[in-house]
Amino acid sequence: MGKYEAVIGLEVHVQVRTASKMFCSCANTFGAEPNTKVCPVCMGYPGVLPVPNKEAIRKTVIAGLLTGCEIARFSKFDRKSYFYPDMPKNYQISQYDLPFCANGRIKVGGENVKGFSGEPLPEKYIGITRIHLEEDVAKLNHQHGASGVDYNRAGVPLMETVSEPDMRTPDEAYAYLTALKEIMQYGGISDCDMEKGQMRCDVNVSLRKGPNEPFGTKIELKNLNSFRAVHRALEYEIWRQAQELDAGRTLQQETRGWNDDAGESYLMRTKEQAHDYRYFPDPDLMPVTFTDEEIEEFKSNLPELPAAMRARLVESGLTEYDASVITADRHLAKWFDAAAKCVKNPKILANWIISELLRELSAASLDITQSPVTPEGFAELVNAVDSGAISGKSGKDVLAEMFVSGKSANDIIKEKGLAQVSDAGAVEGFVDQAIAANPAQVEQFKAGNPKVLQFLVGQVMKFSKGKANPKLVSEILMKKLQ
Ligand code: ADP
Ligand code: ZN
Ligand code: MG
Repeated sequence: MGKYEAVIGLEVHVQVRTASKMFCSCANTFGAEPNTKVCPVCMGYPGVLPVPNKEAIRKTVIAGLLTGCEIARFSKFDRKSYFYPDMPKNYQISQYDLPFCANGRIKVGGENVKGFSGEPLPEKYIGITRIHLEEDVAKLNHQHGASGVDYNRAGVPLMETVSEPDMRTPDEAYAYLTALKEIMQYGGISDCDMEKGQMRCDVNVSLRKGPNEPFGTKIELKNLNSFRAVHRALEYEIWRQAQELDAGRTLQQETRGWNDDAGESYLMRTKEQAHDYRYFPDPDLMPVTFTDEEIEEFKSNLPELPAAMRARLVESGLTEYDASVITADRHLAKWFDAAAKCVKNPKILANWIISELLRELSAASLDITQSPVTPEGFAELVNAVDSGAISGKSGKDVLAEMFVSGKSANDIIKEKGLAQVSDAGAVEGFVDQAIAANPAQVEQFKAGNPKVLQFLVGQVMKFSKGKANPKLVSEILMKKLQ
């Protein structure tokens, strides 16, 4: 073992987020009563006409642009024929030789970046062979010794991203999937909820003796339902293939399944049983063309990716760490941007979100999308603290109250009389009172004992009933004592 290099290529399917299905007007939903979101088109009745979903095509092009792909000026849909109970037409509409997007790449790793296993993961670009659009198949449900077919999923737009065989370790595959998911989510292309089957990956892996040797025989692993499972399956499969090769056996091209509970892969079919899909252009669908102007239009409206947002936040004064916490969750990133529009100081906003808001949310078992406090409402609170209108400590109490009552920060500040006195004239009055009442301590300070300053600040705060802005108190007191 250890004398082989693994070669890995991934094929990833994501359901595109659209209102309706790929070729009919049925709703693109999840979890509806089985077979209620169907029509003659997605049920594959004879004689019906598919109409392509423009939004799904637009999102596929955006995915291509976000991964540096070339966008085909001319592409088409093809029929991929096979028979399976989950496919009502006995062919799937897909794209064969002219996909919408080709020749892109995705960056993984970087300086000081660690992979899933904890090992360093140096920067590397993984090539994207193609991104094409097709339709999802129905869902088979096996229960109580019987099988049911739910056609609600049949015809949902499904986008497939095929990578080059550029990955060499399970960590690189894990990082590639993470980066791809981030792009899909930030691009608004797919929610990629793996528990809902919105993102599914097939893994191809082979071994070779060294980096300059030709590729070995590839084995495809199907039905991996988490990134963790991909990582485990790859580790196992690399070990298994090495054992085979070490024993002098040759590997056959085959498709294997992954049993996550047992932690092993198992044979599904060999190459001899591979399908001949007999692809041909779908005669019911017109080719899809784009002009250069249309592609430029897409390019000028691209959503911002997390790496670019992080750079922008650091530019506006946040630390790298704060920026990465904010962008780690795209909902939080959006929330931050909405709040940032209403504050003067984005750095303080980030501090308050990370240390206070996230704590309150987690205590209430809520995620950011369920926050009872709006970005604008939170900005009001942060501004009150930032301007010195209330103390940081009061700010925390106000936030807790906002969570419970839903009242605005300013209303709570008024009701509870939390506003600090930041009027220089008023504070000066309290300072004068404190100095007049404590001549002995003033003398001590003037004689060179700095420790009594804290005492005098405390006296001023007492005269102000705790409401004087402490920063202002120190400033004015120092001035008067000098
Ligand atoms: P197929 O014709 O079986 O679909 P492709 O050449 O289209 O095979 O590749 C499918 C996936 O397998 C791609 O992601 C590709 O990067 C990967 N792949 C191709 N050859 C190998 C190999 N020898 N080892 C590992 N992965 C491979
Ligand atoms: Zn339909
Ligand atoms: Mg292929």
